[in-house]
Amino acid sequence: MEKHKGKCGCGEVEYEFEGEPINSVFCYCTECQVLTGSDKWFGVWVPVDKLKYTKGTPKKFTRIGDGGHEVIHNFCDHCGTTLCAEITIGNFYSVGVSTLNDNKNYSPNMAIYAASAPQWAVFPEGVPKFDILPPGMGGD
Ligand SMILES: [Zn+2]
Ligand SMILES: [Zn+2]
Repeated sequence: MEKHKGKCGCGEVEYEFEGEPINSVFCYCTECQVLTGSDKWFGVWVPVDKLKYTKGTPKKFTRIGDGGHEVIHNFCDHCGTTLCAEITIGNFYSVGVSTLNDNKNYSPNMAIYAASAPQWAVFPEGVPKFDILPPGMGGD
Protein backbone atom coordinates (compact mmCIF):
# COMPACT_ATOMS: atom_id res chain seq x y z
CA MET A 1 0.00 0.00 0.00
CA GLU A 2 1.38 3.38 -0.94
CA LYS A 3 2.29 5.72 1.89
CA HIS A 4 1.73 9.45 1.69
CA LYS A 5 3.79 11.67 3.94
CA GLY A 6 3.46 15.24 5.02
CA LYS A 7 4.68 17.76 7.54
CA CYS A 8 4.15 21.21 8.99
CA GLY A 9 6.11 24.25 7.91
CA CYS A 10 8.90 23.89 10.48
CA GLY A 11 9.11 20.08 10.36
CA GLU A 12 8.42 19.41 14.05
CA VAL A 13 5.30 17.42 13.19
CA GLU A 14 5.22 14.75 10.50
CA TYR A 15 2.47 12.33 9.52
CA GLU A 16 1.76 9.61 7.03
CA PHE A 17 -1.28 7.80 5.72
CA GLU A 18 -1.81 4.66 3.77
CA GLY A 19 -3.89 4.20 0.65
CA GLU A 20 -5.80 6.68 -1.46
CA PRO A 21 -7.97 9.39 0.11
CA ILE A 22 -11.73 8.81 0.00
CA ASN A 23 -12.44 12.31 -1.29
CA SER A 24 -10.70 15.54 -2.26
CA VAL A 25 -12.52 18.75 -1.58
CA PHE A 26 -12.27 22.51 -1.86
CA CYS A 27 -14.07 23.89 1.19
CA TYR A 28 -15.18 27.53 1.10
CA CYS A 29 -16.71 27.70 4.59
CA THR A 30 -15.95 30.79 6.66
CA GLU A 31 -13.78 28.83 9.13
CA CYS A 32 -11.59 27.54 6.30
CA GLN A 33 -11.23 31.06 4.92
CA VAL A 34 -9.95 32.35 8.26
CA LEU A 35 -7.75 29.30 8.74
CA THR A 36 -6.03 29.55 5.37
CA GLY A 37 -6.08 33.31 4.78
CA SER A 38 -7.56 32.38 1.44
CA ASP A 39 -10.88 31.60 -0.22
CA LYS A 40 -10.73 27.87 0.56
CA TRP A 41 -9.08 24.88 2.21
CA PHE A 42 -8.00 22.03 -0.04
CA GLY A 43 -8.41 18.83 1.94
CA VAL A 44 -8.16 15.15 1.10
CA TRP A 45 -10.26 12.92 3.30
CA VAL A 46 -8.46 10.08 5.04
CA PRO A 47 -10.10 7.63 7.47
CA VAL A 48 -8.92 8.30 11.03
CA ASP A 49 -7.39 4.83 11.41
CA LYS A 50 -5.22 5.26 8.28
CA LEU A 51 -3.30 8.33 9.44
CA LYS A 52 -0.64 8.44 12.08
CA TYR A 53 1.87 10.95 13.36
CA THR A 54 5.44 9.82 12.83
CA LYS A 55 7.17 12.79 14.45
CA GLY A 56 6.02 15.22 17.11
CA THR A 57 2.49 15.67 18.39
CA PRO A 58 0.11 18.27 17.06
CA LYS A 59 -1.83 20.62 19.29
CA LYS A 60 -5.59 20.35 18.99
CA PHE A 61 -8.30 22.93 18.75
CA THR A 62 -11.90 21.78 18.79
CA ARG A 63 -14.75 23.72 17.31
CA ILE A 64 -18.37 22.81 16.85
CA GLY A 65 -19.23 22.38 13.20
CA ASP A 66 -22.59 22.22 11.44
CA GLY A 67 -25.06 19.95 13.16
CA GLY A 68 -23.24 20.22 16.49
CA HIS A 69 -20.46 17.80 15.64
CA GLU A 70 -16.88 18.41 16.66
CA VAL A 71 -14.21 19.44 14.19
CA ILE A 72 -10.77 18.98 15.74
CA HIS A 73 -8.00 21.00 14.13
CA ASN A 74 -4.53 19.43 14.41
CA PHE A 75 -1.79 22.03 14.20
CA CYS A 76 1.88 22.53 15.01
CA ASP A 77 2.23 24.71 18.10
CA HIS A 78 5.62 25.89 16.94
CA CYS A 79 4.95 27.17 13.41
CA GLY A 80 1.14 27.21 13.45
CA THR A 81 0.57 25.06 10.36
CA THR A 82 -2.72 23.19 10.40
CA LEU A 83 -2.00 19.67 9.17
CA CYS A 84 -5.51 18.32 9.21
CA ALA A 85 -8.91 18.58 10.83
CA GLU A 86 -10.71 15.57 12.24
CA ILE A 87 -14.31 15.55 11.08
CA THR A 88 -15.77 13.50 13.93
CA ILE A 89 -19.15 12.90 12.30
CA GLY A 90 -17.46 11.14 9.39
CA ASN A 91 -14.55 9.60 11.31
CA PHE A 92 -12.04 11.01 8.85
CA TYR A 93 -9.35 13.66 8.71
CA SER A 94 -9.45 16.41 6.14
CA VAL A 95 -5.71 16.56 5.45
CA GLY A 96 -4.32 19.83 4.12
CA VAL A 97 -3.01 19.03 0.64
CA SER A 98 -0.49 21.86 0.98
CA THR A 99 1.21 19.94 3.83
CA LEU A 100 1.81 16.79 1.76
CA ASN A 101 5.39 16.28 0.61
CA ASP A 102 4.16 15.27 -2.81
CA ASN A 103 1.09 17.38 -3.46
CA LYS A 104 1.37 18.11 -7.18
CA ASN A 105 -1.09 15.57 -8.54
CA TYR A 106 -4.21 16.22 -6.52
CA SER A 107 -7.33 17.86 -7.85
CA PRO A 108 -10.68 18.50 -6.17
CA ASN A 109 -13.70 16.25 -6.75
CA MET A 110 -16.12 18.84 -5.42
CA ALA A 111 -16.43 22.34 -4.02
CA ILE A 112 -18.43 22.58 -0.78
CA TYR A 113 -19.87 25.44 1.29
CA ALA A 114 -19.89 27.50 -1.89
CA ALA A 115 -22.70 29.62 -0.41
CA SER A 116 -20.21 30.96 2.16
CA ALA A 117 -17.59 31.92 -0.43
CA PRO A 118 -16.65 35.59 -0.82
CA GLN A 119 -17.29 37.19 -4.19
CA TRP A 120 -13.54 37.10 -4.93
CA ALA A 121 -13.41 33.32 -4.52
CA VAL A 122 -12.09 31.26 -7.40
CA PHE A 123 -13.94 28.07 -8.31
CA PRO A 124 -12.41 25.27 -10.36
CA GLU A 125 -13.98 24.63 -13.75
CA GLY A 126 -16.03 21.49 -14.27
CA VAL A 127 -16.08 20.56 -10.58
CA PRO A 128 -19.48 20.09 -8.88
CA LYS A 129 -20.31 22.93 -6.54
CA PHE A 130 -22.57 22.62 -3.50
CA ASP A 131 -24.03 25.42 -1.36
CA ILE A 132 -23.24 23.35 1.74
CA LEU A 133 -22.64 19.62 1.30
CA PRO A 134 -23.82 17.15 -1.35
CA PRO A 135 -27.06 15.37 -0.43
CA GLY A 136 -26.47 12.47 1.93
CA MET A 137 -23.20 13.78 3.29
CA GLY A 138 -24.50 15.02 6.60
CA GLY A 139 -25.39 18.57 5.65
CA ASP A 140 -29.00 17.85 4.70
ZN1 LIG B 1 5.70 23.23 12.68
ZN1 LIG C 1 -14.37 24.46 5.53
